[in-house]
Amino acid sequence: MVLGAGASGLMLATQLYKKGCTNILLVEHNPKIGMKIKVSGGGKCNVTNENVNFDNYLGEHDFVKKVLSAFSPKALLEFLNTRNVYPSIRSLGQYFCKKSADEVISALEIGISEKTLLLNTRVQSISKDSAYIVHTNKGDIEAKHLVIAVGSSAYPQVGGSDIGLSLAKDLNHTYTAFTPVLVGWTVQKEQFWMKELSGISTYVSIDVGHKKLFGDLLFAHKGISGPAVLSASLYWKKGLVTIDFLPNISIKEAFSQKKKQVSTQMGVPKRLSKLLLENLELKDKKIQDLNEQDWKKVELLKAYPMSPAGNFGLKKAEACRGGIDTSEIDAKTMESKLHKNLYFLGEVLDVTGELGGYNFQWAFASAIVCANDLEKKMLE
Ligand SMILES: Cc1cc2nc3c(=O)[nH]c(=O)nc-3n(C[C@H](O)[C@H](O)[C@H](O)COP(=O)(O)OP(=O)(O)OC[C@H]3O[C@@H](n4cnc5c(N)ncnc54)[C@H](O)[C@@H]3O)c2cc1C
Repeated sequence: MVLGAGASGLMLATQLYKKGCTNILLVEHNPKIGMKIKVSGGGKCNVTNENVNFDNYLGEHDFVKKVLSAFSPKALLEFLNTRNVYPSIRSLGQYFCKKSADEVISALEIGISEKTLLLNTRVQSISKDSAYIVHTNKGDIEAKHLVIAVGSSAYPQVGGSDIGLSLAKDLNHTYTAFTPVLVGWTVQKEQFWMKELSGISTYVSIDVGHKKLFGDLLFAHKGISGPAVLSASLYWKKGLVTIDFLPNISIKEAFSQKKKQVSTQMGVPKRLSKLLLENLELKDKKIQDLNEQDWKKVELLKAYPMSPAGNFGLKKAEACRGGIDTSEIDAKTMESKLHKNLYFLGEVLDVTGELGGYNFQWAFASAIVCANDLEKKMLE
């Protein structure tokens, strides 16, 4: 039995069907399958990335590495091609569907029938006797093999929930609570000026801890968002981050034309340059007129310090940090080390990828690892 008909649960089921294991039941509380896939990548599903490495993930590196090595982005693309889905790179190595995310859902639903799918069925708890007993709002279901693929609590509006953690608790597994990541930041009073720029975006890099993330920063009425912020949010817990508003150029190069005004040489949208200078308490003037004190402020354009106030919350988050402790899972099979025939897949585990197709690649790779093991057991 597979709990959750999302990315990892569907990939597992379709692989098992392909191998002749038809005795599978998928349990899903939504009225439809794959609802997170449907809304992903702005409706076009960023299904994977050209460059996938354990370094793109928060999680135990050896564990992540082992699982990812079982199913490469190339293998995923080949699988999709066999089902007439041909994603292409849009930017930064990110593969998106040509028309819509429905292409991926259709590829994954092959083999699944009404008989093997229980929709509108909410898993509530699990107990273990001689078999696993799954308690749902529609009654109890017994299973010899149980796969927990219920994802994280990000985006509750399409079914995200933290049931995975309470199921883990039922079975004595260790976990870390979910917190929203791949999400915009709210700002402190000192950065309220940013809200006035709502709708404007600019290319930046953001330094957070040991990571530097590049991409667009989008000013929003609640704070800041956009790919650079979403990626950086994966690594931010609290405290200072620095934003480089001129990521492709040094201060010396940017301000080499001494007779020009500072604002015209910043290479950012006009309204942003005005408010940035105001916030740095730097009067716009000719570059040749900058004094030593002014140059110190100009330098801050490449390392603008700010402490986010918080984030936009679960309803806006594309993923969650936290999940089941992977030291209790076998990376060769995805089976629990505490209970035989119990498996965990995808985002319910304490592994989270950066923005850019990494989370689907993780969900699918974990499903393939599990399928290889379960297939043997089910065909025994
Ligand atoms: C808006 C948005 C955009 C995203 N875009 C991308 C992207 O472009 N690229 C990328 O790589 N990642 C993206 N992600 C992240 C990606 O969707 C997830 O990491 C991935 O779906 C995780 O797969 P999963 O199988 O672990 O969980 P899910 O795909 O979330 O599947 C879990 C399933 O379990 C079901 N479920 C939950 N609780 C219960 C319960 N109590 N009973 C029964 N069923 C339950 C859920 O409804 C869901 O169908 C995005 C996420 C969001 C929210």
